[in-house]
Amino acid sequence: MNTAAFDVDGSALSLLQSSALPAARFAHGFPTRAGGVPGAPEDGFNLGGRRRDDPATVEENRRRLLAAVGGQHLFLARQVHGPAVAVVRAGDGPQALAAVEADAVITDVPGAAVGVLVADCVPLLLADPASGACAAVHAGWRGVVGGVVPAAVRALAAGYGSAPAGLRVALGPAIGACCFEVGPEVVEAFAAAFPGAGPMYVRDRPGARPHIDLKAALRLQLQALGVAPEHIDAGDECTRCDGAARFYSYRRDSTRTGQHLAVIVRRG
Ligand SMILES: [Zn+2]
Repeated sequence: MNTAAFDVDGSALSLLQSSALPAARFAHGFPTRAGGVPGAPEDGFNLGGRRRDDPATVEENRRRLLAAVGGQHLFLARQVHGPAVAVVRAGDGPQALAAVEADAVITDVPGAAVGVLVADCVPLLLADPASGACAAVHAGWRGVVGGVVPAAVRALAAGYGSAPAGLRVALGPAIGACCFEVGPEVVEAFAAAFPGAGPMYVRDRPGARPHIDLKAALRLQLQALGVAPEHIDAGDECTRCDGAARFYSYRRDSTRTGQHLAVIVRRG
């Protein structure tokens, strides 16, 4: 991932970008905490929409993000940690989508920026240079086990004829295997979903609780569908233990955390 600086009305935003996504056809970004409206409750570029977040602050931060990527409207669904995929078509408005329960949003409409909110969960951005279709996907452990990413890849194929072999995929900052310690119920769910896939489980030392590598699991899913390994960019930033504290983290800060918004838009 590269860090790109944007000046939006005097506010300095810092977005991570992946060279896996073709910049000539798509604009995208994985925000850091830099460049937001200052003040409580989250001092930074908080793009979340939780009850305690100040709506005016979040709205202004989202406006800045949309300006940085050059989108006309921002489309977010209501995330529920499930496998449902929402489609944005020409003429659709953002308000209707906000009521739709889905953890993946896909479109081929130029200027329609699709995004997902995260604070430790994995944000994925997918792009098909052939058809111009793109997707934003939110995958925490429930979404990984529930198959939200395979569902999005299949929806891109069904809706736009996107061949998995042509897809470009970027996995943004998320909680790393270093910090994602889990209990037995999560291990059990992963063992059932990924039989024999031992390498995604990490143990620091004998007797330690297992840690899960969400991005390794997502790579397995993508490659099983035919996405080329060289078209997958899984950055190694960990939201929880990043040295420069560039990211919000639910594990680290619990309900006091803000949220990031990963976004992709087909250029007009
Ligand atoms: Zn970590």
